Amino acid sequence: MLIYEAKLIGKPNQYNALDGAIRTGLFVRNSCIRYWMDNKGISKYDLNTYCKVLADNPEFPWARQLNSMARQAHAERAWAAVSRFFDNCKKRTAYGESHSPCRRSKKGRPGKKGYPRFKKNQRRGTVEYKTSGWKLSDDRKYITFTDGFKAGRFKMVGSRDLGYYNPKKDIKRVRAVRRADGYYVQFGVKCDRFADVEPTGRAIGLDVGLKEFYTDSNGETTPNPHNYRKSERRLKRLQRQASRKQKGSHNRRKAGSKVGRQHLKIQRQRKDHAVKLARCVVLSNDLIAYEDLAIRNLVKNRKLAKSISDTGWYQFRVWLEYFAQVFGKVTVAVPPAYTSQDCSECGKRVKKSLSTRTHVCEFGCVLDRDENAARNILIKGLRTVGHTGSKAWGDLDLCSLSEMMSQPGLGGNPHERLVNPKGIE
Ligand SMILES: [Zn+2]
Repeated sequence: MLIYEAKLIGKPNQYNALDGAIRTGLFVRNSCIRYWMDNKGISKYDLNTYCKVLADNPEFPWARQLNSMARQAHAERAWAAVSRFFDNCKKRTAYGESHSPCRRSKKGRPGKKGYPRFKKNQRRGTVEYKTSGWKLSDDRKYITFTDGFKAGRFKMVGSRDLGYYNPKKDIKRVRAVRRADGYYVQFGVKCDRFADVEPTGRAIGLDVGLKEFYTDSNGETTPNPHNYRKSERRLKRLQRQASRKQKGSHNRRKAGSKVGRQHLKIQRQRKDHAVKLARCVVLSNDLIAYEDLAIRNLVKNRKLAKSISDTGWYQFRVWLEYFAQVFGKVTVAVPPAYTSQDCSECGKRVKKSLSTRTHVCEFGCVLDRDENAARNILIKGLRTVGHTGSKAWGDLDLCSLSEMMSQPGLGGNPHERLVNPKGIE
């Protein structure tokens, strides 16, 4: 699903109406979680039916005001929290079986399982509509929310041209989002995006670093975005200012909103960097291999934490995988074990600490530490790709190939590491 976003321009009372819808969405979600806690073993469909019960309950007149499909959408969110919890509780699958880039959907998560929790009404909030409860103007410049909250007609600013899509068919979700710097609308458009590009004939391995954003297998480095550090200093200052204001005062609220806006700025800078870089990497390579890092574990290491979470590597990876799908390229996430220890030329394992910046092995291979890792990642990536799907060779009779034994790749060379594809003696 592609998301198009625009800012909503309206009157204060319209924003208040949206606040009401957002609060109600949250209410439906939390009520569904409560219902699930009290009635173990219920299904997704029971939650959908429960929406109707909520709406018919005279104690909650607001639940009725929210569009019925929006109520369903929020019940689905509650169910998403429940099923994520169930997935996390499942037995852990073997490494590499999960191809999803989303760490949340990885089955059998160690440690905390994420028992569904109630959500508070915070500054950031959303209300989600499906195909009803809203209406686009003919020129697609205005949106009207038509459910019981009567938020009315908003001007949309900064949206891409929605004219290409059919609002009845293509727009599957509409969300009103409240952020620190205003209200936004998001359109979820169902569309498979494909683009044809010429193959480049290149493959690349990426090693994420602390000093550099990544080092690739050709030895090139991409620096970390520094604008984030700059914005962060400003954020720190704003936070200090806010904490000095008296609690509950108008000034405190104003200062808090400045902090919120600065956070948004940082998020946007990070995303901008991730998107641009990912698109560029995908367009200039046919295969991209990188480590399948559990960012959560890295962030636990407090000394390294900031750099890794700062650089937005995870977000970069999500965009890499997205663009790869769009442009028909291959991405491989390889297990991160030993990528920096092994020699990328001879395979010899050379133990080294984090501070050793150069890889030197006893056979005289000298390489930059990160470049060596990036090469290993590429090698692992190519191996993984070669082993997916069915193999044309079937049971390969190595004996009949004996006259070719001296050629590389057929086992003639005793230093060859992978000789026997199917373990035939
Ligand atoms: Zn070596």
